[in-house]
Amino acid sequence: MPHSLIIGGGIGGLTTAALLLQAGHRVTVLEAHVYPGGCAGTFFHKGFRFDAGTTLAGGFAPGGPHARLAEMLDLTWPVDPVDPAWVVHLPDGRAVTQWADPARWRAERRAAFPQAEPFWQTQEKLAALAWDVSSRPFPWPPQSTADVLALARALRPQTTRALPYLFRTIGQIAPADDPLFRAFLDAQLLISAQTTSQDAHALYGSAALDLPRRGVNHVRGGMGALAKTLVAWIRQHGGAVHFRQQVARITVEKGRATAVTTRKGHCFAADHIIANVTPWALNDLLGQAAPRSLQAETQHRPPTWGAFTLYLGLEERYLPADLATHHQVIVGHTRPLGEGNSVFISLSEPGDTGRAPEGMRAATLSTHTAVTPWQQLRQAGSPAAYCERREVYMNRLLAAAEPAIPGIRRAVRLSLPGTPVTFAYYTRRPSGMVGGFPQTSLFQARGPATGIPNLWLVGDSIFPGQSTAGVTLGGMRVATAVLSGHQVAHHVGDGRVHR
Ligand SMILES: Cc1cc2nc3c(=O)[nH]c(=O)nc-3n(C[C@H](O)[C@H](O)[C@H](O)COP(=O)(O)OP(=O)(O)OC[C@H]3O[C@@H](n4cnc5c(N)ncnc54)[C@H](O)[C@@H]3O)c2cc1C
Repeated sequence: MPHSLIIGGGIGGLTTAALLLQAGHRVTVLEAHVYPGGCAGTFFHKGFRFDAGTTLAGGFAPGGPHARLAEMLDLTWPVDPVDPAWVVHLPDGRAVTQWADPARWRAERRAAFPQAEPFWQTQEKLAALAWDVSSRPFPWPPQSTADVLALARALRPQTTRALPYLFRTIGQIAPADDPLFRAFLDAQLLISAQTTSQDAHALYGSAALDLPRRGVNHVRGGMGALAKTLVAWIRQHGGAVHFRQQVARITVEKGRATAVTTRKGHCFAADHIIANVTPWALNDLLGQAAPRSLQAETQHRPPTWGAFTLYLGLEERYLPADLATHHQVIVGHTRPLGEGNSVFISLSEPGDTGRAPEGMRAATLSTHTAVTPWQQLRQAGSPAAYCERREVYMNRLLAAAEPAIPGIRRAVRLSLPGTPVTFAYYTRRPSGMVGGFPQTSLFQARGPATGIPNLWLVGDSIFPGQSTAGVTLGGMRVATAVLSGHQVAHHVGDGRVHR
C-alpha cells in the first residue's frame, strides 16, 4: 500500500489526504500547529472562538467544490446558508447588499449602478462558463498528457464562448466612468482574486464576482470546523493526523523525495509527499536539494499579499439590531485598496455561545497589507516601531468599521491584532504571505508540480488559488495526479516551462 505523507493540515492538504486515503493509500498528515485549518482555522482566546483568516465559506451549493467533496467522501459539513452574503459600504455612505438570491441582487445592482447592467450580464455569462468547467476535473495548467486529456473532456461546445475573453481583464470589460463602481469591483476582486479590476483576469474575476450568488455559508463552531470535519474523517478511515509536528526537512534521494524529518527529530518515509505550503516554504524544506526551477521561482516571484487582522470580542447590546454578519468597507476610492482602506468584517451569529460568551460576539476584521514593512520592522529589532505601526492599523480598522457598525468602539471588550509576522508564526507561511498569487492571467497560473516527480504542492499557491473552495479543487487535482503518477513539467507561472 503506497504511503502518502502530507505536510500541513490546511484545507488543501486535508482534502488531498482524505481523497488519497479513500483511494487506498496509507496517509499521514503532519501539522505544525495544535489545530488544523491554517488560514481557515479557528482559535480559542479568553472565551471567544475567532476565525483566524477565512470568514466566508463558499462552494457548498450543489456542484460546488465542498459539496462535491462531501459526496465523494460521504461526509456532512456543519454549514447553514446565509443571505445576504455581505454588505458593501461605499465611501459616499451608500450600502450595496450582496444578496445570494439572484433576483434581489439584480434589483440591488440596478439601483446602485444602473449604467453597469451590460457588464453584469457579461459577468454572469462568463461566470456560468467558468463554474461549469470547474465543476469537472480541470487540471489547469496541464502538466502531463493525462491533464491535457482531462481538460479536453472538461470542455463543452458552449465553452468556446469564453475564447474572446481569454486575454482580457475585468477592467477591459467593465465601464470606467463611475469610480465608485470600479472601487466596488476592485474591493470584491482583491479579496477573491488578490488583485483589482485592472489586472484581474476576465474569466477568473467573473467567477469570483459571482461568489455571493453561489452561496455563502455560516459554519457552526467557526470556520475551523471544516478542517476538523476532515481530520475526523481521515482518522475514522484509518489515516493518521499528527499535530505539533513541524516538518523541517524533506530528504531527496536519486531525484525522488523519500522522507521528511520533523523539528522534533522524527523521520517519516513516504512514497509520495504532498506539501501544503507555499513555493518559498517548499524551497526552504528542500534546501540544497531544491530543483533549480523552484529556486529560480522563489527568487523571481514578487511577494504576495499579507493580512492585517483585528480580532474583537464585542458586547452585543452596543451593536445595531439586525446587523448582517459580513461587511466590506471601502474607505476612500481615490487611494489604493488594502492597508486599512478596504476592510472585511465578519461577526459570529447572534446568540452563538459556541463562538462567544453569552451577550458577546466574536468579530474578525481584515485588510490586505504588504508584508515587507512588517517583516523589516520585526527584523530591525525595533519592537517600539513595530508596535506603533500595529496600533495605527488597529485604529484604522476600527475607524473603517464605524460606518458598517456604528458605535463599534463602545462594544469592544477584547482586542487582539494579527500582522504578517503573526501569520508567519501561526501558519508557517514565509513572511506571512497569504492568499496565493494574483489571478491575472490563465497562462501564468501555477500548477502543483515541483520538479521532483513524487513531490507535489497543494494549497492556494496552485491554480485556482485562494479560498477554501479553491484549495479544495486544487486538492482534488493533486490527488488525481498522485494516483495517476503523472508529473512531467514544472510550470512556474512565469511563462517558462522547466523540466
Ligand atoms: C485574512 C484572510 C482572510 C481570508 N478570507 C477568506 C474567506 O473569507 N473565504 C475563503 O474561502 N478564503 C479566505 N481566505 C483564504 C483562505 O484562508 C486560504 O486560501 C486557504 O485557507 C489556504 O489553504 P491552504 O490549503 O493553502 O493551507 P494553509 O491555510 O496555508 O494551511 C497550511 C497548514 O500547513 C501547516 N504547515 C505549514 N508548514 C508546515 C510544516 N513545515 N510542517 C507542518 N505543518 C506545516 C500550517 O500550520 C497550516 O496549518 C482568507 C485568508 C486570509 C489570510
